[in-house]
Amino acid sequence: MSIAYVALGSNLDGPARHVRDAFSALDALPGTRLRRHSSLYSSQPLGPPGQPDYVNAVAELETSLEPQALLDGMQAIEQAHGRIHSLERWGPRPLDLDLLLFDDREIQDARLIVPHPEIGRRNFVLGPLIEVAPDARIPGMGSARDLLRQLGTAGLERLPDHGIEAA
Ligand code: ADP
Ligand code: MG
Repeated sequence: MSIAYVALGSNLDGPARHVRDAFSALDALPGTRLRRHSSLYSSQPLGPPGQPDYVNAVAELETSLEPQALLDGMQAIEQAHGRIHSLERWGPRPLDLDLLLFDDREIQDARLIVPHPEIGRRNFVLGPLIEVAPDARIPGMGSARDLLRQLGTAGLERLPDHGIEAA
């Protein structure tokens, strides 16, 4: 069994609902169990201006899948949420699932890079990651907590539970 961390993001069409549904969909992947998930967070969008805020979260999975098979499952979930892969880079999307960490492995192939290359630059990934795994270490980059301390938490807000229900 491996432990994997997946970042979830949505900024379209009832984003909190997409993120909550994706927790269940990840739990339903073959050989995979959702161990914990973070709170939902809101963050300001990267990329083209005028987009709605994002809802972000991180899921901790236990899985017997290999990383590439887990990515296949994640992409099937994205597609079930209406993700069209030709959409503008960093444009609005109903659901984005990124594989952040897979045990302490470092992977670089044509479709999968782990740790996710943007992890050290995104406070909306590191904040929820630290909530579920306070001592997480990013292979090649060091402690997630130290990385977040350097980045700061500007634009990142933990949504209160009633906010989760309303969003
Ligand atoms: P982004 O998440 O950068 O906004 P996409 O979600 O459209 O962009 O992903 C583009 C491609 O990134 C996918 O087709 C996938 O093969 C590749 N990719 C490489 N590494 C990862 C990873 N760790 N997690 C998710 N996708 C990845
Ligand atoms: Mg992605």
